[in-house]
This record gives sequence, structure tokens and C-alpha cells, in this order.
Amino acid sequence: MSRLPPGSMREARIDVDAIADNVRHLRRLTDSEIIAVVKADGYGHGAFRSAVAALRGGATRIGVADVAEALALRRAGIRAPIVAWLHAPGASFDAAVMADIELGISGIDQLLQAAASASASRPVSVHLKIETGLSRNGIAPADYRIVFAEAARLERIGKVRVVGIFSHLANASEADDRAALAAFEEGVVVAAAAGLHPPLRHIAATHAAIALPESRLGCVRIGIGLYGLSPFADRTSADLGLRPAMTLRAAVAAVRRVPAGKGVSYGYDYRTDRDTTLALVPVGYADGVPRQASGSGPVWIGGQRFTVAGRVAMDQFVVDVGEAPVAVGDEAVLFGDPTLGFPAASEWADAAGTIDYDIVTRIGPRVPRVQVSG
Ligand SMILES: *Cc1c(COP(=O)(O)O)cnc(C)c1O
Repeated sequence: MSRLPPGSMREARIDVDAIADNVRHLRRLTDSEIIAVVKADGYGHGAFRSAVAALRGGATRIGVADVAEALALRRAGIRAPIVAWLHAPGASFDAAVMADIELGISGIDQLLQAAASASASRPVSVHLKIETGLSRNGIAPADYRIVFAEAARLERIGKVRVVGIFSHLANASEADDRAALAAFEEGVVVAAAAGLHPPLRHIAATHAAIALPESRLGCVRIGIGLYGLSPFADRTSADLGLRPAMTLRAAVAAVRRVPAGKGVSYGYDYRTDRDTTLALVPVGYADGVPRQASGSGPVWIGGQRFTVAGRVAMDQFVVDVGEAPVAVGDEAVLFGDPTLGFPAASEWADAAGTIDYDIVTRIGPRVPRVQVSG
């Protein structure tokens, strides 16, 4: 990578080949159909480009949280099946059904609402979501029978087509996830007794798809792994054979030589302890750089690693680069692929007391996404 183009202050480079390669790798590893999860604007990478890259890598279906995200992808030209699973109370599914969006269904009300949107000629495709421990949405075990019976009836009269039955794991412990998986298998048995034999069963997201092989069930929903990040605290992207797709960088906007004892940024939380050089990096908490990483976030400049000096401000932060020959216009990389020497998104997560999912997803709209290949 080189300096940012003239006039460019900050950017998130998105390597779409990394996304496609990550899908290929996970498809081989799991020997399963991949539902590529591109909710929340593809975890900050851009939903459309992430979906295109994931399909190129062999994903067969796209997953998003809500119908608005699904409709935006259809309008942008994604023709693969898209499933959306989190719905506003009382929402009509008419637009979703018109656009051939598959619906995750968490209860009888949503099931009836979906059936009401069926056209005379075409059933609504649904994935029945069952609760197996996470305590979020999903059909409660006590309601399995009544909801499955109604789904089977609606399937017989051509109003719905039950494409899948699914759930989501808590990643609490292997024992907890195995218990949830067992609960899921029971749900599948109850569904079969009601006459439902959906072609897809899916419960694993990236974590379980990698760590709990028996949870793969021939179909896994991959979010964080698409983007080349690790859902494990103790395993890096490289350990998993994944390549981070996003590099967040900015052009050093100012350089200043200062004496010892100089206060830096709001509150003077940092003071220089020697004659030194300060570099101004023009990306701040408005852009998603966590303010909680004040004084601790890592930054790569000119092949060396430094630490944020003092507070992260709305638009910028300062780095104490000592005697390093840093100049205005030099590239400052906050995170990227650690095998290239850059800090990992997970280091920013550690600095801010959060997870790498949060670090990439929170990158704000003021940061241009620049798509690159290879
Ligand atoms: C976000 C989400 C996923 C993807 O999870 P990752 O840990 O990012 O792989 C899968 N399934 C559901 C229901 C989700 O909400």
C-alpha cells in the first residue's frame, strides 16, 4: 500500500478478494452451504460489495437482519436468495414478498403476517427461527407444536414454503452450545412430526462453524469470518486462515516539533517527557475511532508502531512519534492485515474494551470506502 491520493484525508480500503477468499476457505473447511451475513452495511465494509464478493467466493445465500437491508440489496441487483430475520412489530411483508425476500419467522403472528402477503401464484419462503437458549427472538419450545402445525397447513395450501429451520448460538461455552444444538435437534424432530421437512437447517455462525463441527448441519451463517476477522479471543485471523478485508488509514495532517512537558489533546492527559515530534492523524470518534482507546490505540506509521497520545477527539488524534522521520502526508494505518505489519482490529477492540465486530461496524459515513482487489 502507498500514500493516500492527494486530497484524501482518510479511507477504509476494502479488499473484496479477501472476502471471496475467506468464503472459499470457510466453504472448504465446513463443507457446508454458506449464508453470507452482510447486515449493518456488511459490518461496515459495504453490504452490496460484500454480498457480490461472497457470492463470487461460493456463498449461495445472503443474510441480513431486516427487510430494509434485504430490499436495498435487491434494488442494487443481488439476485441470490436473501433472508431477513428481525422485523418491526406489526410490519407488513408485502414489499419483501414482492422482492422475493425470504423471511425468518419467530412466532405465530409473523407467520400469519407472512402468509397474508403471499400472492395467489407464489408462496412466501420462510425460515422458522426457534429459541434454543439465546433468549432473544425465536419460537418458544412451548409454541413449537402450534406454530409448526400452522406452518405445515399454510405450506399445504400453497401460502408458505418452509425453506429452513434455524436458531442462533450464544458462544457461552462448548457445553452450552452443545446443549443448544441438542435443543435444536429436538425442535427439528417436532417440526418433522408436524410434517415439515425443510431443505435447510442452520444454527452455526462463524464461531461454531469453525469450532463445533457437528453444528454445521450442511449450512452455516458466516458474518465476521467473511471480513477476515476472528470471533475468538485467543485465535487470530491468520490462525484461522482468514485475511482481514478492511484497512483503516489516514494521511498525517500536521507534524509539530515540541519540547518536553508539552500537553497533548483535550485535558492534557498526555504530556511529552522529552523533545519529540507529534503527528496529527485526521480520524476521530465521529469516524468510529473509539474514544475509549484514548492513550492506548495502536497506529502504524512508516513501518513503526505508535500509540494514540492523549484523547481521541471527534475528528482527529495525536501520535507521539519521537525521532521518527514522519512527514505531512505520510500514511497512518490504524488497523489492517497484521501479517503485513499493521495493527489488528482486535487490538483496537482490546484498547477500547470491545470486540473486533464493533471496531469495523462502527466506522462512520465520513470515511470513504475504497474498494480494492488483491
Ligand atoms: C449476525 C448474525 C450472524 C453472523 O454472526 P457472525 O458471528 O458474525 O458470524 C449469524 N446469524 C445471526 C442470526 C446473526 O444475527
